[in-house]
Amino acid sequence: MNLRIEQDRLQSEIEALARISDATPPAVTRVVFTPTDQEARRWLRQLCLEARMAVRQDAIGNMFARWAGSDESAPPIATGSHIDAIPNAGKYDGVVGVLGALEAIRALQRSGWRPLCSIELILFTSEEPTRFGIGCLGSRMLSGTLTPGAARQLTDDSGETLEQVRKKAGAQGELESVRLPSGHYGAFVELHIEQGPLLERTGVPLGIVESIAAPASYKMLVEGAGGHAGAVLMPGRKDALCAAAEIILAVEQAALSSGSSDTVATVGICDVFPGAVNSIPSRVRLSLDVRDTDLQRRDKVLHAIQAKAQHLVAERGVSIPFQIINADAPASCSSLVTGSLIRSCKTHGLPFQTMVSRAYHDALFMSRVAPAGMLFIPCRNGYSHRPDEYASPEDIARGVLVLAETLAELSAQPVTAIVS
Ligand SMILES: [Zn+2]
Repeated sequence: MNLRIEQDRLQSEIEALARISDATPPAVTRVVFTPTDQEARRWLRQLCLEARMAVRQDAIGNMFARWAGSDESAPPIATGSHIDAIPNAGKYDGVVGVLGALEAIRALQRSGWRPLCSIELILFTSEEPTRFGIGCLGSRMLSGTLTPGAARQLTDDSGETLEQVRKKAGAQGELESVRLPSGHYGAFVELHIEQGPLLERTGVPLGIVESIAAPASYKMLVEGAGGHAGAVLMPGRKDALCAAAEIILAVEQAALSSGSSDTVATVGICDVFPGAVNSIPSRVRLSLDVRDTDLQRRDKVLHAIQAKAQHLVAERGVSIPFQIINADAPASCSSLVTGSLIRSCKTHGLPFQTMVSRAYHDALFMSRVAPAGMLFIPCRNGYSHRPDEYASPEDIARGVLVLAETLAELSAQPVTAIVS
């Protein structure tokens, strides 16, 4: 198969999409279901139609562009990512996995090759949590991780419900119809910039993801008793900040002693009330983010932190209610997909390394309903979610080439693997 990636064309499409933005270049802002997002979707739809693909949209606005295979009854092979961008972001996050997948499909078409299983490009709705406070809205609903009932509760900052917003944006139908039955797709593979510095540092152009870490995040409120910093003597104080400080150190310790460098835990918010120099802190709001590639290990860290909090309640007389914001399970990538990615790299003589995805992606949720995998390319300094995010045209083209080869292999015969 003679696969030729049209690097210049792909590059000009990446630039064209970056111009459909609500920010001043080079920054990109494209929030889901805004007029700008709608314009970008129409533009992409047109490109897919030009590539002779059939395009449809589901009730949450996920877009599916299908290149029909010779056996339309075989489960399709899917690829794709997102084009929504957080405020003041860059051009490549998500976009490389969408426009790159389109170019991979066009390269296969140009080579004269024809898939047996259909190949579908998926544009996932709202991978970024910007508008509705929850990331991977589209893939969560496809995988059944977010129920239609819970989705109907979501509102944006202006108080508009997801239901109102999506329908206004033309995503019609009932949310109940979004969820995919297991076995619907034969496999899913997502191309993405690494968003970290490892590939650039090691000089390896391709990363094959073996597992995707998933965060658990909690809000914790430490409630003690305030008072005059001079008049209230030390015995019997219920200083909320002192208790919070113990929790923060316990969080660090729990991650450090997990037995794996894949465990990370962070307290990123510490709001002290009333925040006066001569007042004992009566209330502290903490945020907690724990990530790991192993669910049991991550939950062990969470339990250790909870145990510490319980201990502090007894010891310091404070109360520490907490609220779980999300606790998604991490995923292992399917050997069906990683094996194919590895063979594709070897076919083209391209060096690769296996790695962990520390950020989470739509592939995390797609892995619940299909054998899934991810391919990373380097990005400069590991920067992402900022205007100077950059991936070189050569690195992007290499990723697209390996993606095309992988899609060809996966779609050449029906995949019968079913993910339970
Ligand atoms: Zn992304």
